[in-house]
Amino acid sequence: MFIESAQIAIIGAGPAGAHLASQLADAGLEVLLFDPKGAWEKPCGGGVPTRALREFAFILESTDYPRKLIHRVTLVSANGRRVSVDVDRPFAIYSREVLNQLVLDRAINAGAKFVQAAVKNFVRSGDHWILVTDDDRAWRAEFLVGADGAASFTRRKLAGIFPQQDLALAFGYNIPFDEQLDKGIKTEEVTIQFSPDFTGYLWAFPRPGMMNFGVAAKLGERTSDELRQLLSAFVRRYYGGRMPESERLNFFGAKIPTLDYASWADLRAFGEGWALIGDAAGFCDPITGEGIYYAFKSADTLAHAFDVQRMYHPQNFQEVAALYEIMWHNYFGKELQRASQLLPRFYRGTFFGRPFPNAVIFLAAHHRGVREVLVNALIGEQSYVTLKQDLLNRAYQIF
Ligand SMILES: Cc1cc2nc3c(=O)[nH]c(=O)nc-3n(C[C@H](O)[C@H](O)[C@H](O)COP(=O)(O)OP(=O)(O)OC[C@H]3O[C@@H](n4cnc5c(N)ncnc54)[C@H](O)[C@@H]3O)c2cc1C
Repeated sequence: MFIESAQIAIIGAGPAGAHLASQLADAGLEVLLFDPKGAWEKPCGGGVPTRALREFAFILESTDYPRKLIHRVTLVSANGRRVSVDVDRPFAIYSREVLNQLVLDRAINAGAKFVQAAVKNFVRSGDHWILVTDDDRAWRAEFLVGADGAASFTRRKLAGIFPQQDLALAFGYNIPFDEQLDKGIKTEEVTIQFSPDFTGYLWAFPRPGMMNFGVAAKLGERTSDELRQLLSAFVRRYYGGRMPESERLNFFGAKIPTLDYASWADLRAFGEGWALIGDAAGFCDPITGEGIYYAFKSADTLAHAFDVQRMYHPQNFQEVAALYEIMWHNYFGKELQRASQLLPRFYRGTFFGRPFPNAVIFLAAHHRGVREVLVNALIGEQSYVTLKQDLLNRAYQIF
């Protein structure tokens, strides 16, 4: 059987896998990048936080890929109070097909070999890996990266699946604009709505040419039917009390890793000759469900581990995975772990005697300082480590 070889095999060409492929190919490594779908409309809101746009400037610099820049967000508390905040450093919303195309194009331009096929199996053989794709071709690589998302096949084989308590369920609709029917729809601002007794939220994200609506909640907390009802009511309110015609509703749904605090202690994202990045590793903000930033960030971190290894031992990749493990903990792991610790208190705790989201929305309506903290949290620029203290400092100024 003919086997094509490369130094690195990356399973999955979403933001994590394709970004890693472009970094490693740029550094002169031979990279195979596998994905059966290429660029596709992955179930997602497509919100790319300001922090990602700042750290990965190529995203906004790639102006051929349409996106919507968001300068205003309206938050609605479970008791119906609303506050609108202006965002001076906008975040972006992309169709996922467009965002995936952007990163995939960069990987291919950098010299990665894109293989449009699913990896259906892989085995360790001596000091390398043999992979088999669903078209029955075989491939050989020295280092294996799992970037195949929340339902990762790579994770299942190498580290085990995520347990229910580490996942959220999210689904929604993409609804293309109809100029005649959708007059008056807000197409420039984002709405985020909280519900009572609910670890999650609903969102309305305008994208170029369409609206994206969704709901996310901790898995097992509500049935799919209950979530669908909440979502339908939310969409109807947006469209003035009616549901858009069913042929315009493109339903999507998937799981998001939202790790419990206890799960971080033994989270496995590496082993001999392999590493996991992005959703496959569990790197998603457990409070917001946002994982695009962490997909890019973990890919960058692993690329950095390759750089460091090659400075000292250009001939092999033996230390890469262990270096990556140290780096991700330091670069963003502690922040995510803190977010997991805050998660139950964020949605179900109290602040100044009210449910936390209600209190923050109430205070934000009255105080510019609280609004600033809120805006920073929305655009991904607020540290969870200092969130409570920052809010308290601002809130005490009111009294
Ligand atoms: C409904 C919903 C809304 C969300 N909204 C947001 C949001 O607004 N902002 C945000 O930051 N995050 C959001 N997220 C999370 C975000 O979608 C993910 O965190 C992000 O896509 C992770 O990127 P990734 O590259 O790790 O994985 P993915 O984007 O999932 O990419 C994995 C890739 O692997 C491929 N693959 C799978 N199996 C194989 C195989 N066997 N062989 C080869 N390839 C394979 C898939 O085809 C896919 O292209 C949302 C998630 C959901 C479910």
